[in-house]
Amino acid sequence: MQRKIKIGISACLLGVNCRYNGCTKACPMIYDLLKDKVQFIPVCPEYNCGLGMPRPPMRLETSAKGTRVKVIETGEDKTDVLLDWINVEVKLLERAGIAAFIFKARSPSCGLRNVELFTPGGRSLGPVGQGLFAAAMKRKFPEMTFCEEGDFPEIAEKLVY
Ligand code: SF4
Repeated sequence: MQRKIKIGISACLLGVNCRYNGCTKACPMIYDLLKDKVQFIPVCPEYNCGLGMPRPPMRLETSAKGTRVKVIETGEDKTDVLLDWINVEVKLLERAGIAAFIFKARSPSCGLRNVELFTPGGRSLGPVGQGLFAAAMKRKFPEMTFCEEGDFPEIAEKLVY
């Protein structure tokens, strides 16, 4: 029997209730298009790194140390917690042999592009950021195919063939 290719995916897109508010962002179209052809590897950076669920919402902020992920209400900086987990996870995903990754759009962790970026004072600089996990994945796997849920159904064939 032919072995299915492995594709990483933001877990909330597969229906896991791992968002900050305890909800999911299930995208049945992705599951329906790919379920027979791939083995999904679900990943939730914010839950898996230990931030809990539910958890306070976060955003990307500029800083002298580069882009940070901070709790909106308190300004608590969660970047290092996330990065510690991300640095291990990218190696595990490499070992797992994933062929592509499907990211949840607009998330400060998973957004591949166009994530809203803020100044420390809370002024929006527009959709010019990239999620912390997505950015690390791009650095680790520069040749890999990456997409967001909004790229479907057009991207589906490219992921599988
Ligand atoms: S967007 Fe990423 S970090 Fe946020 S809930 Fe989904 S998988 Fe988790």
